[in-house]
Order: sequence, then C-alpha cells, then structure tokens
Amino acid sequence: MCYAIPAKIIAINGMTATVDYFGEERKVLIDVDDLKINDYIYAQGGVFVRKIPQDEALEILKTWKEVFFELKKTDAALAKIDQDKLSPNALAVLQKINLRKSLTKPEMLALLELNDPQELKVLYEIANNVRQREHGNSSCVHGIIEFSNYCSNNCYYCGIRKEREIPRYRMQIDEIIAAAKHASENYGFKALVLQSGEDFWYDDEKLVQIVKAVRKLGVLVFVSLGLRTKETYKKLYAAGARAALLRFETSNAELFAKIRPGTTLEDRVQLIKDLKEIGYVIATGFIIGLPGETNQDIINNILLARYFAPDMYSFGPLIQASDTPFATLPSVAKDLVLKTIAITRFVDSNSNILVTTALETLDANAKREALLAGANSLMINITPKDYRHLYQIYNNKVNANLEIENAIDDSVKLLYALGRAPTDIGVKNC
Ligand code: SF4
Repeated sequence: MCYAIPAKIIAINGMTATVDYFGEERKVLIDVDDLKINDYIYAQGGVFVRKIPQDEALEILKTWKEVFFELKKTDAALAKIDQDKLSPNALAVLQKINLRKSLTKPEMLALLELNDPQELKVLYEIANNVRQREHGNSSCVHGIIEFSNYCSNNCYYCGIRKEREIPRYRMQIDEIIAAAKHASENYGFKALVLQSGEDFWYDDEKLVQIVKAVRKLGVLVFVSLGLRTKETYKKLYAAGARAALLRFETSNAELFAKIRPGTTLEDRVQLIKDLKEIGYVIATGFIIGLPGETNQDIINNILLARYFAPDMYSFGPLIQASDTPFATLPSVAKDLVLKTIAITRFVDSNSNILVTTALETLDANAKREALLAGANSLMINITPKDYRHLYQIYNNKVNANLEIENAIDDSVKLLYALGRAPTDIGVKNC
C-alpha cells in the first residue's frame, strides 16, 4: 500500500525542488545534493523523503493515473458551494476569501459564533472549497508511533499525567525501530511521527539512535517529544528528523499556567521559535474547549498558531480523561472544533490541517466532517497493539484495539470516497 504518489522533479532552485504530480506542481525542500531534473522522488509534508528508481515510479504512476483523475472529479463535486443557499454574511466572507483578503478579528469571531445549521453547512462548504482551490485533492497521511506513556508532567487534562496511576510502558529502542520498519515496509508509510510523554529515560543518545535508524528506512521523521532543550532538537535534526509537533495548547498565559503546572507559555512559544530556527517543518496548534476559554481566546489561538507560519495545524478537542483534575468537565462540542478548522483554513489558506485521533474519538463522523470543513491531513495510529491501548491521554480513545490494517483500510476508503489522493502537498512560502 502506498501513501504518497511519486513526484517528478521539474526544476531545482537551491534547497527547493519543483515537482510534478500529473500536471500539478508542488514545492519540496531538499537536503541532499544528488537530485536532478527528471528524477522521481517521494515527498511528505513538503520535505524530500527519498529517491525512487524511474521504472518503479512509472509503474506506480501507471496504476495511479486513472484513479487520480477519478478522485479529482469526486473531490471537485464535493467542494462545490451552493451559492443560492448563502446568506449575505457568508457571501461577503466568501468574496473576501476569494479576493485573498485577510479576515478581521471581529469577522473571525462572528464566524466562530455561528450556530444556525444552514449557516454552519455553508461555512464548512466554503472552507472545503478553499482547501480544494489551494491543494487540489492532495492529502497527507502520516503514521504515528506512541513509544512511551511515561511523562514527567502533570497537565490537568491528560490521562498519562505523572500522578495518575496507570500501567506504564516504554518501548525499547529496537522495538521502536522494528515498528517503524514494519510501517514503512509492510504498510508503505512515507512519514512517521515518533511521539511520547516527556520521558527523559530517552536521553539524547537514545533519541539520536532512534531517529538515525528510522530515517535510514527512507521516511520523513517527525518528532513529538514535548519540552526538550534546543540542543536536543538540534541533535535530532542532525540525526535526520525534519519535522516536529509541538502545540502551545492555549495563547492565554493565565489559563496555560492553570492547566500545565510547572511550565510556562513563554518557554513553549520560545521552543516553537527555536524549532523553526533549527529548520524543522513545524506542526502546532492548541486544545479547544478548556474550562474558562472564550471564543476570543480561540481566535487568539488561531492567530498565535498562524504567527509561527506552521506547515501543519493540529487541534486537540478537550475530551475527559478519568482520574484527572478535568475528569468531570464536559467534552467540547464537535461544531466548535469544525468551526476552528474552517476559520484556520481561511486565515492560512495554504496550510495543512490535521484531523487528530482525538477528534475521531469525540464523534464517529468527525473525521469525515473535518475533511469536508477544511482539513486535509490524517494520522493513523500504528503503535503496536500491545501498547496502543495504554496511551490513553483521554477516555475511550478510538482505534485503541483495531488492527493496523483495518485502521489503514478505513482511512484510505474514506479518502477515496471524498476524492482525495495522497500526493504530497508541498511547502509554503518557497
Ligand atoms: S499533555 Fe503531554 S506533557 Fe502534559 S502530561 Fe500529557 S503527555 Fe505529559
């Protein structure tokens, strides 16, 4: 199974290559110097992953060609907006977005406060239309390996917080590498996220060893390790990691201090800037539905995320986790998450927006609905089954016991039903 379509290099300019997918051009960051025009490559998240022999690439492209154009037709049909159903307000927003004008904060707030089902339907349709206009039917599919549920922190919302008494696991280095190899060789993943709680049992030396070995498999290595030093992240970049996921959780410093004792928003924001400076492709975002959070906070969160010019946005809806200080809080409403996705699509039209596992847990249809409200990226949990159910950062995590093959099958079927193709979607601002 293949989660990326081979791309042909048609131009190279320094560290950036322009590649072609069936007539559509994308930009890709390259960090090797043996690439030339007409080479075929895999790219993920706008980053070069590996070269593919021409005959192998042509063979794969042959099987894709017909499917690709069929998928495009489906996607285009689903991204149509029924103009007749637009209210004057929605029409005004659409016109601004079409003219690529920035929305003002009050306009964003007004969108976030929409509640009428018909207006929400139109809002999501517009966001889907913008997604389609910017990216065609491209979508990213990454695999995620959650390799340790130990954490030195005590975030109030988190089911693997230090003080919670739960069965803990820590995958050994060779187990992590074996899981990544299996994902790459048996399932065809081209991008793998290595995630854990803040577990300092994995020191720099161990992490470098893991990253080097996983990069050698010919995949994009994405790290999600929480607050580590800039020096650690530099070493991991040198070892081959090219993408990092670090959410700031909320832009409201007072709220941040309440939910993440012992850490500060300032440190987190600084680390995201450091990651950017090192050269990482950044994924960031926040939690939606924290107690005391206002709609104004959510708009500020979107704007702070935008400030980092991330390559991917990741939003975590608040979901109850037993035995935590937030155990009895209500989970967030699905529409608030979908509205946040849609507005983010308007604010940063060229972005990648992820559908998180948490959103799927919130509502069985949410994955599909989010993909039709501006989102374009998926992550599939490929943590070995013996451990997966133990990474319970919230209750009833979806797919905790599903066979990986079935989880992949479900996601690919959904993408195809929506007319999405797993081409890479390229880097921004190149
Ligand atoms: S949210 Fe992250 S840092 Fe906080 S307790 Fe959970 S795993 Fe640890």
